[in-house]
Amino acid sequence: MRIWDIELKYMCNAHLDMMHQNCHIVWSVLTKPNKYLNKHEEILRWKGKLRTLFNRHQEVAEELIQRKLKHKDAEFDLILDEPLAIGDEPVEIWQTEDYQLGLLLIAQCPCPVRAA
Ligand SMILES: [Zn+2]
Ligand SMILES: [Zn+2]
Repeated sequence: MRIWDIELKYMCNAHLDMMHQNCHIVWSVLTKPNKYLNKHEEILRWKGKLRTLFNRHQEVAEELIQRKLKHKDAEFDLILDEPLAIGDEPVEIWQTEDYQLGLLLIAQCPCPVRAA
């Protein structure tokens, strides 16, 4: 589970879609604790930074719509509850953008990182 810190234009549709789901998972664990995921490093990274997460999710949602992919939060009753979005400090970046782009470059997917 990972929420990438790179610009979304470098991500393929599949990675973008996965990242969107991960935004929802992290949000849901931080708002309704889940004993299996509470200590996951990606959850901890966003702890106390729900506004930052809310904004990152918005960027992902807009990119999905721009690419004519589905953003069905309303349909699945997944809309992030904005009043809970408190804490707008930036998250800690553990790996440089170049490193993260490198991971996408070796993934078997059409992420357009080569154009970077
Ligand atoms: Zn969403
Ligand atoms: Zn990809």
